[in-house]
Amino acid sequence: MRPQFLYEKNLQGVANSVKRKQEQYRKIVRHLYYNGAASIAEIVKAVKISQPLVASLVDDLMSYGMLLDKGVGESIGGRRPNLFCLNSEYQYVIGVDINLHTLNLAVFDLSNKQIFREEIKYFDLENSEDYLISLIDKIESMISHLGIPREKFLAVGISIPGLVDAKQGLSHTHLSVAENGLAHFMGERLGMNVLLDNDARTMALGEKAFGKAIDKENVLCLNLSNGIGLGMILNGELHSGKNGFAGEFGHILIDPEGKLCYCGKIGCLETLTSGKILVKNIREAVDKGQPTLLANYKKENRKIDLRAVVEAILQGDQFAIDQLNQMCEYLGKGLVTLIHLLNPEMVIIGGKIAHAGKFVIDPVTMSMNKYAMSRISSETELVCSDLLDDSALMGTMANVMRSVLSLD
Ligand SMILES: [Zn+2]
Repeated sequence: MRPQFLYEKNLQGVANSVKRKQEQYRKIVRHLYYNGAASIAEIVKAVKISQPLVASLVDDLMSYGMLLDKGVGESIGGRRPNLFCLNSEYQYVIGVDINLHTLNLAVFDLSNKQIFREEIKYFDLENSEDYLISLIDKIESMISHLGIPREKFLAVGISIPGLVDAKQGLSHTHLSVAENGLAHFMGERLGMNVLLDNDARTMALGEKAFGKAIDKENVLCLNLSNGIGLGMILNGELHSGKNGFAGEFGHILIDPEGKLCYCGKIGCLETLTSGKILVKNIREAVDKGQPTLLANYKKENRKIDLRAVVEAILQGDQFAIDQLNQMCEYLGKGLVTLIHLLNPEMVIIGGKIAHAGKFVIDPVTMSMNKYAMSRISSETELVCSDLLDDSALMGTMANVMRSVLSLD
């Protein structure tokens, strides 16, 4: 039986010896995917399988085209060993990053390289059959544009805002019209395996695999865009909670006398600090004649959205900076609760507001210094993501490979 990456892990009715062999293939592929090219001796050491068996498994994988012989590598004395690596073109992964107003699509090869990337603007997320049909259409046209045969696609990874039950492949907040759940629906239509998770958690996986959380064990990843999302890496693993709803940080109570949140509760963090509130406050002030660079947007009939606000901040617009500072005071206050509870080594700010860089880091740091126990918070590094708008897409790739290569 040819080596299979995953989903065929549940090889029902297949002999145990075959299952064992598939598991051994997976161990080798896993090692090469995460560590790069390796010699037989290095693989033997990493996967703890005997040398003759590894040599024969590597031969099999080469004959299927999954591995390539990279030629000779460095030697620490004696004959230089041949190095083997994953054939990056053996299979591909589709990344789908669904946002409220845009859709990002990408195709990755097995070296994590994006061989295709597209941002589709004005693709407003709505809970309708029409949206689902256009989503499938966009993915299908990308596949035909690339000319890659369907069986070469390992899986599709989807990132979507809102409440998501990743295990069941269900999106509760958005696209709940999808029959039998979003992952199942998309899988049926595309004829591929589909993995789904919430945007903040997918971003956290992206940061852990490719961003600032590499080599970190306890990291909080904030998605600061229109709302506030949180993905938590705890003890090196993504934390999802019982139903996959962990991380609803935007809905912790900050102000009992505050405003009504869209979730039905009063005084949630998101009613005080979110991109949506920032934009709303600035628009109202502009209407009342507040001097700001953003007033020109109104004059020129351009939309004051989060992107415009961040641009104004980067240009030093005093009013927009003040508004962001106010927001960061509350955010810092909320973050301190998490830091006291979880003692993370790093907090990564991602999402659209992360483009503001030091303009968001500095006031959040000040607020954290004000409210936190310094012994705990001084050990927590606060940074902006460097993957920025790519973190959810990169996270879909990380999510697929993590699932495909898991050894459970
Ligand atoms: Zn709320």
